[in-house]
Amino acid sequence: MVPPLIYDYQLSELTSLFESWGDPPYRAVQLWQGLYKHFWNSPEQFTTLPYNIRTKLSDHFLFDGLIPLITLASSDKNTIKTLFKLHDGLAIEAVLMLYEKRRTTCISTQIGCAMGCVFCATGQMGFKRHLTKGEIIAQVLFFARKLNITGDVITNVVIMGMGEPFHNYANTLNAIKQLNDPEGYNLGSRRFTISTVGLVPAIRKFSMEKSQVNLAISLHAANDSLRSSLLPINKTYPIDEILDASREYVSLTKRRITFEWALVNDVNDTAEQAHLLGSKLKGLLCHVNAIPLNPTKNYEGKATTRQRALQFKSILNNYGVPCTIRLRRGVEINAGCGQLASIDQNNILTA
Ligand code: SAH
Ligand code: SF4
Repeated sequence: MVPPLIYDYQLSELTSLFESWGDPPYRAVQLWQGLYKHFWNSPEQFTTLPYNIRTKLSDHFLFDGLIPLITLASSDKNTIKTLFKLHDGLAIEAVLMLYEKRRTTCISTQIGCAMGCVFCATGQMGFKRHLTKGEIIAQVLFFARKLNITGDVITNVVIMGMGEPFHNYANTLNAIKQLNDPEGYNLGSRRFTISTVGLVPAIRKFSMEKSQVNLAISLHAANDSLRSSLLPINKTYPIDEILDASREYVSLTKRRITFEWALVNDVNDTAEQAHLLGSKLKGLLCHVNAIPLNPTKNYEGKATTRQRALQFKSILNNYGVPCTIRLRRGVEINAGCGQLASIDQNNILTA
């Protein structure tokens, strides 16, 4: 049997385990600091711990839950995508983006996705399984380790990789909490953003947590018939319910909410959609992040044009709704939004 991944354990659990071994609690703190402050990922690196503890640790735990298989860099070298093999042979992808002073990692929460959004490569591959808390954490630490070599650090974590984070709610939120720990990795909640397709009960639950984690909702259409044709989950949680939950989130947390919109030419980049969206979002503390659609294998829609994107933005602005047209990044290495799919999945399974 494969031993459990060390990042799946909290400090309190490791402390109890050490106690059961007859080792003092400060040894668990040293382990924790090795994991989260030095990013050590093999027992031999824990030179702060006596040899007998290191041996016990390597017998009990997996330190390397993610095996990097392929890393691709965009031509400007500012976007890096890594394909990881997991202990069960399945694979995920995660991305590191370097722009200006930001070092943002985009991480996955599931292998595949059950939501089936038509223009998303992850949705097109179907759902394989949830990632554990430790597998989510390990992605952040992988890039933290990489940046640490040059004395650099991750500034932001966006949970916008493969999968629907609110479908794997507890593992996602617990991973963030574990990475918040001031005794460990110490990255504050405000540095994290969760993007959801709009699972209303989970949005409501998240609002109640009064967390400082940023929330983004993938809207992509302003009326139900269009949204249901792009995002099938809209049949369960239609737009007005999502917007009600969004208003509740803003009033409970006093935080601005982001709506994401992949601009597809002549589908959802029309003046009509912009007017409808503007009238629905008017007065809400929010921001629209629009991004020209990234290409994926099984969707024929095309990216909007610059002119149409600017028209969309200016209509929203007339309703007092702020909108940013984001640059497409990492598209040539399929590292853009919605392009993560570990398409080599089958090869890896047979490798
Ligand atoms: N499941 C979550 C987060 C992962 S997807 C969600 O859907 O929000 C991250 C973002 O990429 C979402 O806003 C999603 O709608 C968007 N996206 C998916 N496919 C895309 C594509 N082909 N081009 C641009 N954005 C896309
Ligand atoms: Fe899943 Fe998000 Fe892709 Fe939709 S856009 S299929 S929710 S990962």
